[in-house]
Amino acid sequence: MTKSSDRTQTLKAWADLVACPACLGTLRENGVTLVCMACGRVYPVVDGIPVLIAKRDQAPSSMN
Ligand SMILES: [Zn+2]
Repeated sequence: MTKSSDRTQTLKAWADLVACPACLGTLRENGVTLVCMACGRVYPVVDGIPVLIAKRDQAPSSMN
């Protein structure tokens, strides 16, 4: 039993529960971060809690 694997399991559980706030794409745990499989945004994880904040400067330029 290692606590590091337990943390990874928690992160995977988060990835299953939440979606990308920018495009509602599927998130996948990537070590210590969550990565959106659809748009490629990377979300940091602080104390085991993913910080799902879409940065405006990374928003796709959909307005024309
Ligand atoms: Zn996304």
